[in-house]
Amino acid sequence: MFRHTLRRLAMLRAPVCECGQVAELVMGDVVYPEVASTHHKHYWLCRPCDAWTSCHENSPSLKPTGRLANAELRAEKRKTHGAFDVLWMVGFHRISRFNPNASKSSAISIAYGWLAERMGMPAQRCHIGAFTIEQCIQAQSICRNLGHELMERYNVSTQPRT
Ligand SMILES: [Zn+2]
Repeated sequence: MFRHTLRRLAMLRAPVCECGQVAELVMGDVVYPEVASTHHKHYWLCRPCDAWTSCHENSPSLKPTGRLANAELRAEKRKTHGAFDVLWMVGFHRISRFNPNASKSSAISIAYGWLAERMGMPAQRCHIGAFTIEQCIQAQSICRNLGHELMERYNVSTQPRT
């Protein structure tokens, strides 16, 4: 058990915060004390910045899922997810007309493709979790404009998930 823990520690590569500080590994009770469902999960935290990111729990190195985000970036990411939801729902509506077995996840990857193309980045690098504040703001306006444009074109009315 101890040896296992040591081996795991040796594999960890702590991400560095934008302020230059090496992040510390904590459990969810530190960053989300009020959300019990996070308490068994790992997070990389920079205390001075109050910035953190979740981890890929299944990766041996507990790879961060995105960049360490402070309150401002977390708020922008939330807004970006909201705007992106509208976009993939339009896509879902569109593809499920032709394919009744269409999945949400295929609609999400199509929508990420649309977004990536307009942001000028490869689709496999386009993830809201990895965006900076500037990229979040850019993505929000792309999602809103494109979402409305496609809704009109495809005659879709959909309410964003809240
Ligand atoms: Zn920091």
